[in-house]
Amino acid sequence: MHVLITGGAGFIGSNLVTYHLEKGDKVHVVDNLSTGRIENIAPYMEHPDFIFDEADILVWNELEKAVNWADRIYHMAAVVGVFRVLKEPISVLATNIAGCERILRALHTSHWNTKLIIASSSEVYGNRSEDELLSEDMELLISPGHNSRWNYSISKLADEAFALSYARQYNMDVTVIRFFNVIGPNQTGKYGMVVPRFVRQAVREEPITVFGDGTQKRSFLDVRDAVIYLDMLANNPQSRAEVINVGTRREISIEQLANIIKNESNSASSIEYISYDDAYGKDFDEIFHRKPNLEKLIKFTHYLPQWSLEKSIIDLIQRQHAKKEY
Ligand code: UDP
Repeated sequence: MHVLITGGAGFIGSNLVTYHLEKGDKVHVVDNLSTGRIENIAPYMEHPDFIFDEADILVWNELEKAVNWADRIYHMAAVVGVFRVLKEPISVLATNIAGCERILRALHTSHWNTKLIIASSSEVYGNRSEDELLSEDMELLISPGHNSRWNYSISKLADEAFALSYARQYNMDVTVIRFFNVIGPNQTGKYGMVVPRFVRQAVREEPITVFGDGTQKRSFLDVRDAVIYLDMLANNPQSRAEVINVGTRREISIEQLANIIKNESNSASSIEYISYDDAYGKDFDEIFHRKPNLEKLIKFTHYLPQWSLEKSIIDLIQRQHAKKEY
């Protein structure tokens, strides 16, 4: 199979590269290396089934050719990470929306009925109460526009609307994935992302920076399970023109997460509580709960994750120890 991955040098994208090369597929990555990193795909540069183009999907002139070549496309290229989203509010909207539409347009004019997987986000659910299970068909919440955090969910919602409209109007095979917090190898803490930040801080015996009081909760899915879910969804004809949550059930507070990482790494790090104002600047809207309804995912895949949170954390601690940057 020929697989095109936009944003393939990024976190989820590079794990898709590993997965598909191991399966014997041919993989073409396009990435402008803005958040993606060359180290993530460096092991494959000489691989006979791997092609890399450093380019921005907004202007890449090989896009139509690459789309025609592909049997499957994963559109993962986007401006991501809370820090980056707050710092680059215009580029979040402009890049994420225009990039997605360009892929859809290219696919519409191509000759094949290629499967397209589009990355959306659980951010589109907005801030919810503790007992709410987030289901794909529920009403979505966008908070008033003073905070740039919501630009990200607005961009992803626009992507979803584009994807479903192309799917309906041109009968295209598109599936939208709402990722809940995904963790694993190749994720950087540079733009937010709590797990790589805590792991790095714990291994370096620096203070572990919990934002707010640490009672906010998330559920974390290992990327090595996430890529299996994506492949299974792509192979299932029922996923056509559907929006599907990809995540895991177990919710944990950020304070508990800090303690697990500290304990598993035998770290002497202190836990430091930092106000949201100091962490993100004034008027930041935190999301306090985010628990996915996974009925649709399970119905379409029948797969249960193989990586517990502890197993992922132990693996990430070992990888952090193996890095040379001290
Ligand atoms: N967080 C934290 N310390 C950090 C980075 C993040 O306490 O150094 C918190 C953040 O405020 C949020 C949670 O961890 O409550 C998850 O943050 P992340 O940016 O990973 O994902 P998102 O907020 O998009 O779910």
